Parts: sequence; C-alpha cells; structure tokens
Amino acid sequence: MSEETDPDLKPETLAAQSLHFLDPATGAVVPPLHPSTTFARDADYGLRGAVSYSRYGGPAVDQLEALLARLEGGAAALVFASGLGAAAAVVMALKPGDRLVCHANIYWGFRQWLEDFCPRFGIELRQIDMTDLAQLDAALEGGAELVWAETPSNPLWEVLDIAALAEKAHAAGARLAVDGTAAPPPLQRPLAHGADIVMHSATKYLNGHSDVLAGALATRVADDLWQRITSNRTGVGAVLGAFEAWLLLRGLRTLYLRVRHASATALHQASRLQRHPKVRQVLYPGLPEHPGHEVACRQMEGGFGGMLSLRVAGGRAGALRVATGTRVFLPATSLGGVESLIEHRKTIEGDASSLPEDLLRLSVGIEHPDDLVADLEQALARIDEEGEPQ
Ligand SMILES: *Cc1c(COP(=O)(O)O)cnc(C)c1O
Repeated sequence: MSEETDPDLKPETLAAQSLHFLDPATGAVVPPLHPSTTFARDADYGLRGAVSYSRYGGPAVDQLEALLARLEGGAAALVFASGLGAAAAVVMALKPGDRLVCHANIYWGFRQWLEDFCPRFGIELRQIDMTDLAQLDAALEGGAELVWAETPSNPLWEVLDIAALAEKAHAAGARLAVDGTAAPPPLQRPLAHGADIVMHSATKYLNGHSDVLAGALATRVADDLWQRITSNRTGVGAVLGAFEAWLLLRGLRTLYLRVRHASATALHQASRLQRHPKVRQVLYPGLPEHPGHEVACRQMEGGFGGMLSLRVAGGRAGALRVATGTRVFLPATSLGGVESLIEHRKTIEGDASSLPEDLLRLSVGIEHPDDLVADLEQALARIDEEGEPQ
C-alpha cells in the first residue's frame, strides 16, 4: 500500500502515481503483483496485511479501490470481475417488492439482464425516458428504492441531468446510481452532482487498453446499501482478480491523458462529419445542436468524451459499407481503448433491437486525428445515396 497521500493533490496526479505508490521494502515505484490467494498469519496469529484470502480483496485490489474512490470523490469503491457484475451488484442489494426506475435507452446487455432478473426476483422494473423529467416524476409516484441512469447513454449518447435526477430520486426516497462508463474522470463526476453511486465498465476507459474485463462502483457515502453490496460481492466472489487489478492500476496512470486526447479528437471528428454529404446525423453531446448539449456543458468538464454515433446515407447497406471499409478504425465491439473502433450496433444487438439500421458507433482512440478523419472519409466514399456498392 502507499503512504498517506496529500489530500490536496489533484486526481490526475494521484492516478499518474497510483496514489504516490512507493514500496517500503524495495523502493519500487510500481506496485508489485501478488498472485497469492492466501496470506499467512504472524507469530501472534494476527494478519500481516489487510486480508487473509483473495475473495475479500488483496493488495492490488485494495490499492485500486482506494485510488478509484479518490478519483470519483467518493467514500469508498469496489471492483468487480466485469462491468455488468458491478451493475448487477447494486440491483442485487434490493429486495423483493422494491421498485427500480431506469432509463430505457441504457447499455443493452444490462437492460436484458434487468428484464430477466427483476421479475423473477420480485423487483418492479419501470423503464422510462429520463430526458423527459415529467416521466420520472410519474414513475416515482408512490416511491422507489433505486433510480438507474446512464449518461451519456450508449449508443445514442443521450445526456441525462444528474443533479435533477438526484433531487427527484431523493425526494421519492430512492438512491440514484449512474453508469458513467462513457464519461470517466476527468470528464464527469456524478457523485459531485448528487448521485449516490457511480458505476463503470472498467473494461473501457478506466483500463483503456482492451485487455482487462472489469467493473467498478464508487459510493458517495458508505451507507447500509453499500454494506449490502460489499458483503454480496464477498459472498458470491465477484471480486476482480489480482492480475487484472494490477493491469488496471497501470492503465489508470494515463487515464487523464487518454481521455482528454480522445475527447478532443472526437469533437473534431464530429464537427467535420456533420458537414459530410453521406452523413445524415452525428450524435455527439459536444455539438451545440445536440439536445443534451446544455446539460452536458453543466455536468461535464474538459470534453464530451470519445464516443459518437453516425447515421449514414444508404440505410443498413450504407452503414455496412462503411463498417467494412475502414483501414484504421477496427471493426470490433467495445469502446474506450487506445485504438479506434467502429461498430454496426444493430447487427450486434439483433432483431429485437430498436436501434436504427443506419447507425454506426465510433470509439475514438488516441491515434493521429488526421489519420482517423481520412479513414472515415475514404470509408464514407464507399456508399452512394442508395447504399449500393459503387
Ligand atoms: C460495456 C458496458 C457495460 C458492461 O461492462 P462489461 O465490463 O462488458 O461487463 C455497461 N455499461 C456500459 C455503458 C458499457 O459500455
């Protein structure tokens, strides 16, 4: 573990130095990797470190959680074996009869799980459009236990007003949890705007190198809900492994640089693509025309993220021409890595998805902006107005 860190240091500094880590035994400036699952006791039969067995955590997990709590400005953080593991842990802390109100256009994998789990567990699930606060008022009538939001929401990049949601949730006796995967620190800190819990698929920006599957939660206060989430994680063993935690600590060292760079490139891309004759619409909260731009300006700092979606000419065929025609953007799912990705979401989500056929999701990485612009331009040139191959 690191020594006590100066409380005035900026999150960026803490991330770059993994909380000013310095190994007391060796002077190493990088935390060591401890793959051990068990930790021996001393001569008095006391524990030498914080844990005895790795289902409860371990040196890298503890270090990572301490760092994430600082980056989010929270009282505590927990890491999980995946983003969905983290999200599910919040819902599993509810009890039968509780009401969960969630934004309808959230990450599809989580929505599918909620639709399966909630009815079987006796949780009343209400899906609404939270860009319309009147719908939230109606859904909260009679009270609720949890409000689940995601902003910007994947893959339409709708922006939800965290402060307004928190106020309404709290007035109804509910906690507000926000999936902030698409806008990690430094872009957005939901706890500072009144959210009770922030969740991340750490697989994405927090790690940033597309080589770790992980999830994270941070809480504003370590209350009874947090205690239930914590004991459930230990009970079911959903903790992140030591090696993944160690990799994630390394990824976090460059979080601020990566995210700011990707955000700047994405804004540049979005503005250029808006004028492209083969692009019908650009969905990006950084554009003044975006319906959530004003709220985004209020609750996001230093950029609007590296994620955007395009609706292109030529419908499904046009979109697939572009998705199969890039030479720099890689045609793969996921987001938040250093490499840029392009994806036709409708193909991935299948027939049940209500997403438009002409939508392409872009995850902008840290490559040279000119290469990314040139790549999309040559790929867009592959569609004609009817979407037939040229
Ligand atoms: C990827 C993603 C998840 C799920 O995270 P995993 O790490 O894949 O389990 C949840 N929410 C959002 C917004 C995501 O992009």
